[in-house]
Amino acid sequence: MRNIENIIVTGASGFIGSNFIKNLLEDQNFGKDLKTITNIDKLTYAGDRENNLDYENNPKYNFINGDICDQDLISSLLKEFDVDVIINFAAESHVDNSIESPDEFIQTNIFGTFNLLRCLQEFNSSLNKSAIILHVSTDEVFGSLKLNDPGFTEKNSYKPNSPYSASKASSDHLVQAWHKTYGLPTLITNCSNNYGPNQNFEKLIPKIIKCAVNKEEITIYGDGKNIRDWLYVDDHCKGIIKVLLEGKFGETYNIGGKNEISNIEIAKIICNLLENAYPFDKNPIKSNLYNSYEGLISFVSDRLGHDFRYSIDPSKIEKDLDWYPEETFETGITKTISWYLEKLIKND
Ligand code: NAD
Repeated sequence: MRNIENIIVTGASGFIGSNFIKNLLEDQNFGKDLKTITNIDKLTYAGDRENNLDYENNPKYNFINGDICDQDLISSLLKEFDVDVIINFAAESHVDNSIESPDEFIQTNIFGTFNLLRCLQEFNSSLNKSAIILHVSTDEVFGSLKLNDPGFTEKNSYKPNSPYSASKASSDHLVQAWHKTYGLPTLITNCSNNYGPNQNFEKLIPKIIKCAVNKEEITIYGDGKNIRDWLYVDDHCKGIIKVLLEGKFGETYNIGGKNEISNIEIAKIICNLLENAYPFDKNPIKSNLYNSYEGLISFVSDRLGHDFRYSIDPSKIEKDLDWYPEETFETGITKTISWYLEKLIKND
């Protein structure tokens, strides 16, 4: 078990990073040793400091409004906080945006990761340190699966298809290169689709909930049969903590929730659960066109290059680090719906 006192978490005003800090502060193994957690976030459209409200006043927590591509900033923060670990969540993360305008994906996801690596390497060699970088990546780097293909293991080759997944694949390769070439202590995690509180409304699950609550059309790409493997965000964060404390440098760990569900099934599950939690008839928004949440579902032209299926085989992290997801999809989605309902109805 590593002794970690000072952590930089990049992109922690976004979805997973903000939940990660909450999990870190609650984690028994970190409680005593942890001195500082510094969130470096550029606050793009996807970052929101409201996501950090739960621990904003915790004396260990610091917020820096900055860019991971800024060499002077990252170098000076590494020294100022005498950092032991960088956890890199900062990224452009929405596949649709990467198809429309890939520039920022190349800049933040590739150049930004390179900048963190070179700053950390320089920090370690000039001050004789061995600070670690844990880079958070995606299962999308492995490409698309057919229905009966086995899930991705860490040994699968990279075959990214979208500008987003290609940028993440590039960043993973850079991290591996800094380990092999310069001996930097690196860790990589590749996770499946996350869901839970604080996710931007552009992403599938929050978008479905918001459209339903507003009685607007719930649009699903293509025939809705594309399959994703869903992972509750707290389970993911606990997996990252395990990898951080006990993972082997230079290795990658796949983290998945073993919940393969098609997009159309997701939409129907959410609509059914909403009928109990916030019945269509009692929802004060008037609609002459529809009489149930499920009736709002419609299909639109497919996303360009839409990958058919992702599936993670998490055997390595289960066996080596004794990590297992605690939530089933049913328990996770129920909590998620309650959280968004409170946010949407309160903000009305
Ligand atoms: P997100 O889009 O919700 O948050 C990204 C955060 O990074 C935002 O707060 C944004 O302001 C910040 N950011 C963007 N560019 C920056 C820059 N140049 N410098 C500093 N901060 C910057 O993303 P997320 O869903 O929380 O994903 C976090 C990480 O996990 C990403 O690397 C993503 O590729 C990876 N991932 C996410 C999922 C998922 O389902 N959400 C699945 C697999 C992997």
